[in-house]
Amino acid sequence: MEITEKVDLLGMDRAAMEAFFTQIGEKPFRASQVMKWIHQHGVSEFDEMTNLSKALRENLKAVAQVRTPKIVSEQHSDDGTIKWLLEVDNHNCIETVFIPEKSRGTLCISSQVGCALECRFCSTGQQGFNRNLENWEIIAQMWVANKALGCKPKEERKISNVVFMGMGEPLLNVTHVFPVARILMDDYAYGLSKRRVTISTAGVVPAIDKIKEEVDVSLAISLHAPNNPLRDILVPLNQKYPLEELMPALQRFVEGGHSKKHVTVEYVMLDKVNDLPEHADQLIELLGDLPCKINLIPFNPFPNTEYVRSSNNAIHRFQQKLTDAGLNCTVRKTRGEDIDAACGQLAGKVKDRTKRTVHRVDFKD
Ligand code: SAH
Repeated sequence: MEITEKVDLLGMDRAAMEAFFTQIGEKPFRASQVMKWIHQHGVSEFDEMTNLSKALRENLKAVAQVRTPKIVSEQHSDDGTIKWLLEVDNHNCIETVFIPEKSRGTLCISSQVGCALECRFCSTGQQGFNRNLENWEIIAQMWVANKALGCKPKEERKISNVVFMGMGEPLLNVTHVFPVARILMDDYAYGLSKRRVTISTAGVVPAIDKIKEEVDVSLAISLHAPNNPLRDILVPLNQKYPLEELMPALQRFVEGGHSKKHVTVEYVMLDKVNDLPEHADQLIELLGDLPCKINLIPFNPFPNTEYVRSSNNAIHRFQQKLTDAGLNCTVRKTRGEDIDAACGQLAGKVKDRTKRTVHRVDFKD
């Protein structure tokens, strides 16, 4: 890949882009013009930005670029799910998944190459951690998907929701994830509301408190266990931020402000590990009156895993108990299974750090 000193514009939020234009002696409003070209029209060549003067375009060509990743593959599932494998440098590829549903289209994006957290049931954790993704590499996933889906005007856009549920722990990469969240919500870029941008975390407590101050997006917590001893095993980060610290942080997140906030609680269903009636009882007690919606996720097995997906009966029984206790509990639909299988094979052929299970999303608003 070519080494370049040029400034990358793709990953700049509005404040950064305005600062850039001021620095090169231009008016800050150029930022909104250029952001529109890049993000709404999918343009990466300055010559195509026709409302900029020729002189400015030449200047931009000399000092800046809109760097985009190489699309290694685009796979389509029978159910409409699309998965892209994107090359971000000579050694690393990342995956992005689009999940269309009747009333929405969700894009699941990655925030790191690999993951350092080693959750026992997650294939990403088994590959180890390579590095944080930069702003441009994270927003490029939206850029590529939006362009592939036709760069439609806002009202007709196919991607209505973005979730940070791909590879990596977004709250261990806030320096790059927060500006990207701002770009997703910027009216001159994708204009998504804060209800439609969701950061999913294994529970990095100090960073949960920063969300409200810095980006105010929605939050999903990968809980997966209702007590510390079990969560210490399934989500080892729990040893650092145990439930007695995590639960108050979630409460702080939903408090304040005018809008009715809630947290999405993700709970992977592992046969006889966390799916017994006693676990449901503990979960009900743990959640108390936290405003939340629980999403049960049938486990997706991967090679050499010690876990098995809970039976449909067990999942249904668990859901019923929570519902009876007055909680809002849904089961995540499995999507894109056919290309998920191909994912392991393809990733294996291309780069060894991209092996992982596609995370399927089926949030209920
Ligand atoms: N690190 C962040 C975001 C990535 S994981 C987090 O932990 O939330 C996003 C979701 O993928 C997790 O909540 C988990 O529910 C799901 N996941 C990971 N491995 C899975 C598997 N093997 N089967 C089903 N869901 C899985």
